This record gives sequence, structure tokens and C-alpha cells, in this order.
Amino acid sequence: MTHNMERVNGLGALTEDRLKMLIREANAAKAQAYSPYSHFRVGSALLTRDNRIFTGCNVENACYNLGQCAERNTIAKAVSEGYKSFRAIVISSDLSEKFISPCGGCRQFMREFGLDWEVYLTKTDGSSLRMTVAELLPVSFGPEDLAMKKLTLQNDS
Ligand SMILES: [Zn+2]
Repeated sequence: MTHNMERVNGLGALTEDRLKMLIREANAAKAQAYSPYSHFRVGSALLTRDNRIFTGCNVENACYNLGQCAERNTIAKAVSEGYKSFRAIVISSDLSEKFISPCGGCRQFMREFGLDWEVYLTKTDGSSLRMTVAELLPVSFGPEDLAMKKLTLQNDS
């Protein structure tokens, strides 16, 4: 049943096997986390619509505000390799009692590439919460908004 759902435009819940595989990939990426300041390791695994997988981890910096989240690093890796059409991203951390939740900046970064793809928030026991980008960032601003009708300023040159 889930197998059929998966074929509809590449959307719908991932099969259990594929989700487990992506969780393993996200956990492996988490092991590479460079987080000497927060000691908060995060990894993610991104599945493109043509079934490529990209992974990434958070990378902190002595200049704290330059630290980069795992999700953004992962998406940037995919985009830099020519992939912009995404099916799902799985996020893992060391939190055992709460599903890891992407920060606001990462939600906006995901939204740039569509609203209908999926984000799996996980716990260390392997359980996950499936959400869409639209659910994580309601009433969002995206690339389409830049092309919408705007007020024309009189002195606009
Ligand atoms: Zn983030």
C-alpha cells in the first residue's frame, strides 16, 4: 500500500525500509558533526525525487554565529551537485525524549525548494514524526512571492 503511494509524483510516506535506511544515513552523518561548542550533534539525509541521497552534519565555528546547521549543509550539497527537487529529509540528533525539530532558518531554506516535500523528525530510538515543509512553515514567503503584483512607487526609476 505504501509502495503505491510512493509512486504518486514521488510524494506520500516513504516505505518503512527506505525511511530506516535514511535514518541510518542521517545517524552516520551525525557522527561527523563538528559541534565542539554546543555539543549538540545533528545529521540529516536528503532524498531527491530521482532517488539520490545527500547527507550532512552541523559545522560550528569559533565565531559562533557562523555555525551552520546540518539541514542547510545537506541541501547546499545537493544544490551544488545539481539537485533541487526533493522528496524528503530525515533529521537526527541525540535527543531521546523529543523529536529533533529544524530551526526557523532551516525551515525557510527547505521552503525555497517547495512546500510539498517531507521532513522526518526523529528520536534516538529510531521513531519519527512525518511532516511536510508546509506544515513546518505555514503562511510562508517563497520565490513565487517575488513575482506577485506589487504596489508601483511613483518615483521608482
Ligand atoms: Zn537550522
